[in-house]
Amino acid sequence: MKYLIALLLSLFSIHAFGWGFFAHKKINQYAVFLLPPEMMILFKPQIDFITEHAIDPDKRRYAVPDEGPRHYIDIDHYGVYPYDSLPRKWNDAVAKYSEDSLKQYGIVPWWVQTMLYKLTDAFKEKNQTKILRYAAELGHYIADAHVPLHASSNHNGQFTDQKGIHGFWESRIPELLADTQWDFFIGKAEHIKNPGAFIWSRVLESAAAADSVLKLEKELSLQFPSDQKYAFEDRNGITIRQYASAYSKKFDEMLSGMVERRMRQSIFAVASFWYTAWMNAGQPSLTHLSNQEFSAEELKEFENLNNAWKAGKQAGREHEMP
Ligand SMILES: [Zn+2]
Repeated sequence: MKYLIALLLSLFSIHAFGWGFFAHKKINQYAVFLLPPEMMILFKPQIDFITEHAIDPDKRRYAVPDEGPRHYIDIDHYGVYPYDSLPRKWNDAVAKYSEDSLKQYGIVPWWVQTMLYKLTDAFKEKNQTKILRYAAELGHYIADAHVPLHASSNHNGQFTDQKGIHGFWESRIPELLADTQWDFFIGKAEHIKNPGAFIWSRVLESAAAADSVLKLEKELSLQFPSDQKYAFEDRNGITIRQYASAYSKKFDEMLSGMVERRMRQSIFAVASFWYTAWMNAGQPSLTHLSNQEFSAEELKEFENLNNAWKAGKQAGREHEMP
């Protein structure tokens, strides 16, 4: 039985990186509704693209070695909160630690800013396909920066005998509660004057929350009858072994709404970064844009990305990644 369970787990555990695929898509989708009408004119008809391609950066992790570090930062590598020894500016950080070393421990707060510049340039060029791609992908990295375990070297509880906690927080809980229990009425996107400071403060919040996430799950697992921690339950029509609903709800309660709060903050941040890029580009009219159709090469690229992802999934390589 033990072997069977292990086999089922490895076959069906959908280990995503950063918010699970479900939450990443929701975050991009909901963010569209925070935009002003001048942007909605482009984003609303393209909402399916923005939603679906929210997960491209995770798919790319199988194919592109440089991709991984863009999704997280093991900030505890740099001492203790608030990690003042780590320069917030990329060039200063490179001068102090070298680019290789920074990449080894993750670069998400800097990569969000790189993507913001790319999106801003795409708005200046009024290039529709670039705007959509960069917006969808920027949304992904911003959302990842909001996940506490993306700002901790103990990202999957591997140092504290809590393996699986990563997907528990970011996939299992949102999938169980987001559609039925949570509120995503969030208001309007705002212009962010200092995007660097903004994303760093979100990363520091994540880092500060990581300890609670790990500590509370440990506490709960010690209190909870161990044979009721996991259950065979339905997931998208397939019966799989996963964290039991009762266990998941209890964990969510102990976190006092943290997952919902981080998801809401992600949505606000994503919409506000899109809005900021558009404002900083001089508020170009989005009614007549160039490059409205994806080229044959771009479509091929999307297809290759999907294939590489599926092949990687089949090979079970996802389990080796943070
Ligand atoms: Zn990610």
